[in-house]
Amino acid sequence: MENLKLNSYYDVIIVGSGPSGLGAAFKIAENSKKSVLLIEKKKISSGGLRNDCKQNYTYPVGFPLEHWEKDEAQKLLVEVANHLKPKMETRLNIDKYVNRAKKLDVDILAIDQAHVGTDKSSALINSLIEQLKNLGVTVALETEVKELHETKKEIRLSNDFKIEFNDIILGPGRADYDWMQAQMDRIGVKYSDNIVDIGIRVEMKEENYPIVKDYYDPKILFPNKVRTFCTNSGCAHIVREKYKGYYSVNGHSLSRDKKPNNLVNFAMLKTIRLTQPVVSGQQFGKILGEMVMQLSGGSVIMQRVGDFRLGQRSKKETFNDDLYDFKPTLSNAIAADLSLSMPAKILRDIWSALKKLDSIVPGVLHPSTILYYPEIKTYSNKPQFLNKNFMVKEGYYIIGDGAGTSRGITAAWASGIKAAKSILEK
Ligand SMILES: Cc1cc2nc3c(=O)[nH]c(=O)nc-3n(C[C@H](O)[C@H](O)[C@H](O)COP(=O)(O)OP(=O)(O)OC[C@H]3O[C@@H](n4cnc5c(N)ncnc54)[C@H](O)[C@@H]3O)c2cc1C
Repeated sequence: MENLKLNSYYDVIIVGSGPSGLGAAFKIAENSKKSVLLIEKKKISSGGLRNDCKQNYTYPVGFPLEHWEKDEAQKLLVEVANHLKPKMETRLNIDKYVNRAKKLDVDILAIDQAHVGTDKSSALINSLIEQLKNLGVTVALETEVKELHETKKEIRLSNDFKIEFNDIILGPGRADYDWMQAQMDRIGVKYSDNIVDIGIRVEMKEENYPIVKDYYDPKILFPNKVRTFCTNSGCAHIVREKYKGYYSVNGHSLSRDKKPNNLVNFAMLKTIRLTQPVVSGQQFGKILGEMVMQLSGGSVIMQRVGDFRLGQRSKKETFNDDLYDFKPTLSNAIAADLSLSMPAKILRDIWSALKKLDSIVPGVLHPSTILYYPEIKTYSNKPQFLNKNFMVKEGYYIIGDGAGTSRGITAAWASGIKAAKSILEK
């Protein structure tokens, strides 16, 4: 924990220095004299701002429709851009892809997007934190909020120090959903969680997915709630992330300053909405993730498209065969059989989407292309909000991905602005 003396009261406490917390902190600090404490348990925020940091500036990408109208989101995106100062990527020559897609009942969205890169994002975050300190915000890094008091407006830190507040904004992100759930139970806020995205990450040579030269992160919507997500190119690689009970894959790319490896990766995800008897998306994601861990001996799996098409499992040799002429960037994935691990309905819809994609951008399904599984995106516990500004109880707001009010950096930031506005207008 930083050597910082905290007061026993702040007008506003913000938990989490992800984009939602930062959005709220800037809005309040720039528009009031309120004392603000921003608390972050890590040295530096842990979400997407810290990683690849692709910023989408076109509604509805990242904005769950149940919470956002287009006009409001677009207005707030201008405010987000004023702070993040994006350098927009260009989008060229995509008409031929859009026309092919239309014939297959597929939508290619035109998105304004900027990309920072995993190697440069921490400099951006540090500069934002410095700006907040200069605006008078107390920033407590490496400081964890253990719990909220059930009835008093008070938090307890992990070192048992207690701090009171008038308003609190909670932006703990998706990874800490169980902490958020416990706090909602403590303060008596009802919630639900019935959605999960399950899918694969696809890795191929850039020459087999040339659309990325014209459109950095193509957002493509297929039938049956399947979509592409988070495309990486340039110096792109796949990583394994640890969750409770399983690993999920994810993709990154470094900034344009780094030497390209001429590979591309993107996720192909299917959204699943659950009803009885399993009503928790997080639980369903965990069940599927654990099944892969059992089958693979504890890691994520990968299969070459060539083997998949032949209905045979990939083996170590598959990845050394000179027909398959690039090495997987995730070296600790286990060569295996996707069809044995993935529920049939999900696999069918994703494979059907990939075949359509191969007609739109011929080459994606080259035999050397690798399919990694699982990529699981759980949604948060959606609280019952009392108003449109994400208030769950007088003086308590829950924002960002951890509250299901966003699905990306820019929307998370916008959700912070919205909660802050509500506090400023009181
Ligand atoms: C690896 C990865 C890459 C991603 N890449 C992108 C991308 O390129 N573009 C994009 O738009 N989205 C991306 N995302 C999604 C993006 O990260 C989220 O949409 C966004 O960060 C959500 O913001 P948030 O503020 O709600 O939560 P987060 O960014 O997750 O921030 C929450 C913060 O709260 C802190 N915290 C949690 N509990 C406590 C506690 N009890 N006490 C103190 N601090 C606490 C956490 O340490 C964390 O720093 C990515 C996500 C991941 C995991």
